[in-house]
Order: sequence, then C-alpha cells, then structure tokens
Amino acid sequence: MAQFRLNALSEVLNRKPKDIIREENLVSDYFGIQVFNQTKMKRHLSKEAYKAVMDAIENGTTINRKMADQVAQGMKTWAIENGATHYTHWFHPLTDGTAEKHDAFIVHGADGSVIESFSGKLLAQQEPDASSFPSGGIRQTFEARGYTAWDPTSPAFISETTLTIPTIFISYTGEALDYKTPLLRAISAVDKAATEVCQYFDKNVSSVQTNLGWEQEYFLIDESLYMARPDLMLTGRTLMGHASSKDQQLDDHYFSSIPTRANRFMQDVENEAYKLGIPLKTRHNEVAPNQFEFAPIYEEANLSNDHNQLAMDIMQKIARKHNFRILFHEKPFKGINGSGKHNNWSLETDTGVNLYSPGKNPKSNLQFLTFVINTLKAVHDGQDLLRASILTESNTHRLGANEAPPSILSVFLGSEVSNMLDLMEEAVVDRKMTPDEKTALKLNIGRIPEIILDNTDRNRTSPFAFTGNRFEFRAVGSSANCASAIIVLNALVANQLNEFKVAVDKLIAKDVKKDEAIFQVLKDLIIKSKPIRFNGDGYSEDWIIEASKRGLTNVRTVPESLSAYVRPESRNLFSKLGIFNESELKGRVEVEYEKFIMKLQIESRVLADIAINHIVPTAVSYQTMLLENVKNLKEVFTPEEFKILAGARTELIREIGGHISAIKSLRKEMIEARKTANIIDDVIKKAKNYDKLVKPFLDEIREHIDKLELIVDNEKWPLPKYRELLFVK
Ligand code: ADP
Ligand code: MG
Repeated sequence: MAQFRLNALSEVLNRKPKDIIREENLVSDYFGIQVFNQTKMKRHLSKEAYKAVMDAIENGTTINRKMADQVAQGMKTWAIENGATHYTHWFHPLTDGTAEKHDAFIVHGADGSVIESFSGKLLAQQEPDASSFPSGGIRQTFEARGYTAWDPTSPAFISETTLTIPTIFISYTGEALDYKTPLLRAISAVDKAATEVCQYFDKNVSSVQTNLGWEQEYFLIDESLYMARPDLMLTGRTLMGHASSKDQQLDDHYFSSIPTRANRFMQDVENEAYKLGIPLKTRHNEVAPNQFEFAPIYEEANLSNDHNQLAMDIMQKIARKHNFRILFHEKPFKGINGSGKHNNWSLETDTGVNLYSPGKNPKSNLQFLTFVINTLKAVHDGQDLLRASILTESNTHRLGANEAPPSILSVFLGSEVSNMLDLMEEAVVDRKMTPDEKTALKLNIGRIPEIILDNTDRNRTSPFAFTGNRFEFRAVGSSANCASAIIVLNALVANQLNEFKVAVDKLIAKDVKKDEAIFQVLKDLIIKSKPIRFNGDGYSEDWIIEASKRGLTNVRTVPESLSAYVRPESRNLFSKLGIFNESELKGRVEVEYEKFIMKLQIESRVLADIAINHIVPTAVSYQTMLLENVKNLKEVFTPEEFKILAGARTELIREIGGHISAIKSLRKEMIEARKTANIIDDVIKKAKNYDKLVKPFLDEIREHIDKLELIVDNEKWPLPKYRELLFVK
C-alpha cells in the first residue's frame, strides 16, 4: 500500500501539463453560444411564440400548448443544428447537485425508420419517478409520481450533446420537491412586497428583481493522490491527517500567482462557462494552499443559481481532464481554512435602481435607508431561520472556527450607514415634526455619499455584511445550493416589507404625512433591530459574551438549528407568503435531518474501515519492525549497552501499542453508538443521537491516527499526507 502512495506521487511529479483548447475568438464572440437566448429565440421562433416566452419571463404569464409546440420546434431545430442528439429536463432535487435523464429526439417514423421529434408537451412537462429522490414525509403520504415543468425564465442550453431544459420538480399533488420551486416563489414574494414599498417613493416601479452574485471557493487536489485517499473519495473530506509543518502560516497563498496547472484548468472552465452564458469574472488563489475561488458577474437570482450549479458541474468535469479532483466540501482539511460561498444579494427595480445603493437626493436615500433598515430587522427577527438555511453537517466544521463567520448572526453596516441610523433614531420624534426638524433630517439623509467608504474597508468577520451596494451573506457553505439561503432571506425580507407597509399605511390613515409615517416606522425598526448590528470582530471571544447579553442566539449543532424551520411563526411565515405549505416544510426539514444522519453515518463507517484496514496493520507492522530491532540489539550488544540503545525504542513500541489499542476500542464503541442511534425511528431524536454520541468519536479516533502518522516510518504510511495533498502543483 505504501508503494501505491509513492507511485501516486511520482506519477504526479512526472506528469506533463496537457494543452488546453484555446478559443481563438474574443469571449464576446462566443459568449452564450450554447444557450437558447433571446437572439436565438428571435431567429428560430415566430413573433408570436417569441412574445409568449418573453411575456412568461417578464410577467409570469403561462405559455399555452400551441405556443409551447412552436417553441419546442424552434428549440429542436437550433439544438440539432448545434450537434444535440438528446434532450433533458434538468432540475435541483434536495440532494447535492442536479439531476438529468437524457432522452434521444428520435421517434418511430412511418416505415420503421426513425425521425427527430420534440413537442410542446415534452418541453413543458415530464414525469420522472420521484420515489428515488428525497422528499421527507411527502413521499409516504402521497403518490410517488413527480413532475418536472419547464422554467422559461432560465434559458435552455446545450450541454455536450444534450439540449438541457431548466425545470422545477414537484410531486403529483403539486408539492415542491426541489430548490427551484420555492426559490421562484420567494423571488416573487419579494417582488410583490418590495414593489409596493417602492410605490411610496416612485410610482413608476412595477417590479423588483432579486440579484445574486456568488463566490465559489474550492480546493484542487491531484487525482492520483485523491484516489489514494478513500476518505476524500467517499466523504469529500480528510477524516485523518496530521497538519503539514507548513500550511498557511506565511499567508503566502491568498492572491498569489496562480500555479500554471491550476490556471490552465481555470481557463478551460471559463471557456466552457462562457459558451453556456455564465459570466465568470474573477479567479484567484484563496487563503489555504491549493484553495481557489471563481466569481461571476451577478445576475437575476434564479438564473444565477442555475449558473452556480452548472458551474460546479463543469468544474468537476474539467478538473478530471486536468487530472485534478475538486473538493467543494466546506472543510476538507483540519487546521487550515475551509471553503464558503458568499452570496452577494441585492434588489433592483425595473426602473434600473439598485435599492441598496445610496441615491443622489434625500428621497432616493430615504428609499435606500428603508430597504437597509427593513433588511436589518428581517435578519434580526430571522436569525435562527437564516442559520438553519446554511448550517449543514459539513458547514459546522467551518462555522465558528477562526476563519469563518461564527454561528451568531449579526450584520455589519459600516460606520457611515450606522451613523445615519443613529442620527435618525435621535432626530425622529413621535409627534409631528417641525418643518425645521424635517429639513435638517432630510438634509442629513441627503448627505450619504453615493459610494460608501466601508465598501472597500470592510469587516471580513461578519456573517452578513453590507458592502456598499449589496448585502453579502458569508456564512453560506461552498457545497450548498444557494437557493436554501436565498429562499429564507427573501421570505424574511418580503415579510418584513409587508409589515412595514401595514405600519406606514396605518399611520397615514391617521392623517400622518407619508414621509413622517415612514420616518416613525423606520425609527421603531432601528430600535428593535439594534442588537443585530455589530461592526466589531466577529471572531473574538468577547463577541460571544456580548452577543449573549444582547439576546442573540448562538446555535452550533445542526439538529438544534433545524428546529427553527418548524416553529409556529416560521410555518406561518412561509405559508402566508406561499413559499412552503405545511407538508412541504415538514418534508424538507425531514430531508435535512436525514442528510445530516447519513453524512455522519458514512463518515463514521469510512473512518472505522480505514482505521482497521489501513492504519492498524501499518502501525502493527512498524511495531514488529521495532521489536525485531530490539531483539537484534540484544543479541549483538552487552546488557549495559543494550539498555542504553533500546530504551527509546521500547518506549516507542509501548506508545504505538497504546494508540493501536485506543483505536480498536474507540472503533468498537463508535459502532455500538451507531447501532443504538440506528434503531431510533424519530428522525430528530436520531439526528441528535448521532450528533451527541457518534460524532465525537470521529475526532477521538482521528487524534490517535494523527499521532501514529508522526511516529510510523514514512515509507510505510499508506495514505498521502497533508504536505503531499496540498503542495503538489
Ligand atoms: P469580494 O471578494 O471583494 O467580496 P468579488 O468581486 O469576488 O468580491 O465578488 C463580488 C460578487 O458580488 C460578484 O459576483 C459581483 O458581481 C457581486 N455583486 C456586485 N454588485 C452586486 C449587487 N448589486 N448585487 C448582487 N451582487 C453584486
Ligand atoms: Mg466577497
């Protein structure tokens, strides 16, 4: 086995970089070439059909069968002209990643021949077997059948030789079984609520769009070394491995020169992404060795999330062409930085105004402040739900460690916006304001600079930071589907904006002037949301104490955190906004508990196997070698000499023996703990049991293995070590 490790290493070191296929043209020449976008729709669709699709995108109208048939014909012609032989409905089930089942275009012709065919019916709806996808309780209560239905707001594209149609995935009875359906509903809830609030400021606003710009962090690992690590292959993270003497202490990786091999991989990914219309913009080295980031230009949230899932898929495929494997796990290596996926989020009106950008005059600045303050209150009230949306088994290893935002939710606003809120809190009074008071306040509000200084000088320790023209939700994990976070954020903001409107209208009905009513309600929100505002160091111990004094919650375990979804107020919130009905929410949460249990169960099994199959035999063999050595020494040397020479060696033999026994007995105990947990029927109790009784063994066993790694002869050690995994370019 040790030879395998050396072979893997020498293979890597001798490998010559492959040449990547370079695009001869400018990116602008081939951007979106594989996407059935507006230009192609115009070319391939009748005026009528084109209008039907555009109406569906812009106004959410439905496309009738006749039009769908026309669109399907146009799509088919374009796809076949561009080399497609198959089509698929592509969706985001509640697993990691996306799902697709390819069907060829062919159908039987008249005389036993086949012809290419595609219809509006096939475009609009398909019926995959839903029973093999997670659904929580929904599957038991209802029929196993499920439907995928075309999402015309995200354009179809050709992936290799398949026409790929983005779809939602719902049960026979209409319950959402995916991420996209509730995401679309949450986007629409914010659209409605925000548009109404915008009406206070600008009557021309008729819709509000959610924007999302994700930053995808990841690790690149050489494929042959990856293959020699069963823990990486099966769980996505290393379950053992002593720290490398050098890792990120010198801060020499972040933004440093990108290694050539990684750079070639990135160029290849970019080429593919551009063809699929994914606007990748930024690439750089991240903090940890072999850790990198890709970020696109932000887009409408539903499209942007499709692009994130697609980009992750492309990255995995292209990595293999370059003999790399990608790790999207939040914490693949102990002791060095993990990976996140910052979600940059903002709202934009159809009149082109970013609601989180300060404007040019007091009126647009008051609109800006209205949205910032309502968001603040939404995060304050929804802190537990927001945490539940991002805290997964893999993300727990990252959150709260010294490199990632803590499990306490807080909002960084920066000094300029904070000062403005303090000023409003002081200036606004409950009675009718005098004209002078009002003028002074408006003057101050007008003074917010268009570009906010904290945009550049911002706080990296905040889980939710205002960054000048958007909020950045930084606690999202690198392997997550962004929808999970955006659904909750949009739900909370939509609900808060609705409540804001009710409160303002109530005052207006009592003859309070509109601007004064807005001031008064905002003041109330500023006061109520104060505990969530924090501009200091989110990683410090002091903050944990301070946050608890402020009454902010600090929940570190997944089972506890998930319970926020099923509280009566959450159930009410989601159903009121039409995002999740009771059974959808219940089903979804059950899926999350199950995922948590399964991931821990797999990790625990893999660790037990490696410990017994790889580590213990290696340690025993090295121990035997030492024992032989001691015996030989005894034969050759005098008793006095022997005593001196063998002392350290016998000590080492005992130490190895201690670790071997500990690993064996801990493994046994861990298996017993799993057995106890496995017979529990209630999924919440079972998850809690896994968390409390199984999870701790993973660290305990690891500790002994990592000690052995330091002692045992390097030549015998069966697994590639951190220094090899992380530093082979
Ligand atoms: P940083 O690493 O400094 O946070 P990046 O440039 O890596 O910034 O990523 C910032 C992301 O935020 C990009 O995807 C960018 O397009 C996105 N973004 C910029 N402005 C907005 C906005 N108004 N709304 C949403 N996302 C935005
Ligand atoms: Mg960022």
